[in-house]
Amino acid sequence: MLINMKDLLKVAYENKFAVGSFNVANSEFVKVVITAAEEQNSPAIMQIHPNEIDLVTDGFIAYVREAASKSKVPFVIHLDHGATIKDITRSIRNGYTSVMMDASHLPFEENIAATKEAVELAHLVDVSVEGELGTIGSNEGSSEGGADEILYTNPEEAAIFVEQTGIDTLAVAVGTSHGIYPQSKDHSIKIDRLKQIHEKVKIPLVLHGGSDNPDEEIREAVKHGIAKINLSTDMKRAFYNQLRATLDANPNAYEPDQLMPEATKAATELVKKKMDLFGSTGKASLYKLGEI
Ligand SMILES: [Zn+2]
Repeated sequence: MLINMKDLLKVAYENKFAVGSFNVANSEFVKVVITAAEEQNSPAIMQIHPNEIDLVTDGFIAYVREAASKSKVPFVIHLDHGATIKDITRSIRNGYTSVMMDASHLPFEENIAATKEAVELAHLVDVSVEGELGTIGSNEGSSEGGADEILYTNPEEAAIFVEQTGIDTLAVAVGTSHGIYPQSKDHSIKIDRLKQIHEKVKIPLVLHGGSDNPDEEIREAVKHGIAKINLSTDMKRAFYNQLRATLDANPNAYEPDQLMPEATKAATELVKKKMDLFGSTGKASLYKLGEI
């Protein structure tokens, strides 16, 4: 079933688990996320970044919608890091049930104004909105954006931001970065900061860039208001590392049905482990059709 983010995360937030949000930029990744979610009886989010929609084109979303709608477990289709009103309207037209307006690089008041504009538009048609306050770091190889220096989310500002914009979920900057972490940088999740934000902000919080953080940090974050965890690097790495190995071992193979299954399986196993870690395994049964 396909629902919006507000309904999906309400259950997660109340029951203290997080739902994984996985970047799907080809049909193999859609299959990975749906297979993993169904095998784990877990809700899941499939997200597409503006760079990814340019790659797969608008028609791809009809396929994602069809696949998600037919599944017995709950799904959301989400715009990852929308930057403009054009990104937002394009996603609504394509049938996403949730969008992110990331204006976190702008000054506070301008971030509020841009995010509020997205909320007013999206809420007209029951599409949920994620905003971002503070800046999430960026590492080499990631096309998701982010800043060189992490600017932590201020808890007081976060409360004002949520109230004035009317967003449904808030992405917070608490230490993590997009992409693969270099050894030299500190990317630990600042749990104290997260606790302060969680005390002031009473909507589900979102963690971006948590691919390389230790499991214990992720578990702790989920206890303090994190109800959505974005995961892109880990899943792609599992898929392409296996695909590389399969190609090396079978230099003359060219049929997708010979090359893709092993890579798909490796990524599916990774996603299933993350669902266990986030606490979403088995939780699809908490969503009752007709009650949301
Ligand atoms: Zn992100």
